[in-house]
Amino acid sequence: MLTHDELPIVHLVLNTDCNAWDLAPTSTSPGVCRFCYRERNKVSTDADTVRRAIDRLRSESEAHRCVFTGGDPVMPYDNHLEAALRHATEAGFETNLHTNGLLLSERFAGIRDHVTVYSLAVDGPDSRTADWFRGQGYFERFLSNVDFLAADQRRLAFNTFTTAVSVKELPRLALLIAEVSRRTEVEYWLISQYRPVGRASTRKAGIYGFGRRDFVRAVDNLHADINDMTIYAQPTRAPEDPYPFRVWVLADGTVTADLGSVAAPRNAVLGNLLVDGFEPLVRRAFALREQTHREGTA
Ligand code: SF4
Repeated sequence: MLTHDELPIVHLVLNTDCNAWDLAPTSTSPGVCRFCYRERNKVSTDADTVRRAIDRLRSESEAHRCVFTGGDPVMPYDNHLEAALRHATEAGFETNLHTNGLLLSERFAGIRDHVTVYSLAVDGPDSRTADWFRGQGYFERFLSNVDFLAADQRRLAFNTFTTAVSVKELPRLALLIAEVSRRTEVEYWLISQYRPVGRASTRKAGIYGFGRRDFVRAVDNLHADINDMTIYAQPTRAPEDPYPFRVWVLADGTVTADLGSVAAPRNAVLGNLLVDGFEPLVRRAFALREQTHREGTA
């Protein structure tokens, strides 16, 4: 059994594609979500397989939370989201739905009772900034999602990506988020910076990259505006600072993990938990990550 300290959270990926790509970019934008590590859908599964994967997660770990991420897990087709959320909550997991929210109102009735926290992406305090990142109409949809979720007293979290320009807008976004937190519970705010990991691109770095120190200072300055809200900062990544260990489970049972190498083009595929078991695969990932760390510091 993996203890809660070893693995507090698991990420479940029902699909790797995303419907935000259908939005039109604004006239000055480099394109919708160009910073995203977008992929065609890599997952092919069925509801029964998803449920069996969740059962293995439950029986072999004390993780308290299952994060539904992607791509975007709220898609215009049946990706077994409702079945998976229901099964995860019935198995005793808290659930966190990471979404752009574009189709949230349409699928809300089917998922409402099985989502602990809705983590909504928003990159700026107005449509000029936010739509530059994610496409025309995005910010308007974000506001309407916040309105109906707050009216229904749902628990929210926010997820923000920054550039050298938009980082200056963080104080205004903090005011918006603080205002939402007076209407309903806001669990955390995650603020990130471009990470030229593995598939580094100088073009993207030119668009999105900026100094780590500027990012850290801007986020530190927010604490005064936002009182006791939890803020997680995800600055750009240097070779010497591997991120906390995370495991992603694809809905066909494939287990992948970040083994700590900044140069790795993508997460390492460890195996399939329906065949190999979940705990053995994660223990192997711990060992491989330790090895990566040793080689990096040797
Ligand atoms: S909304 Fe999220 S998952 Fe979709 S393309 Fe943008 S960053 Fe990627």
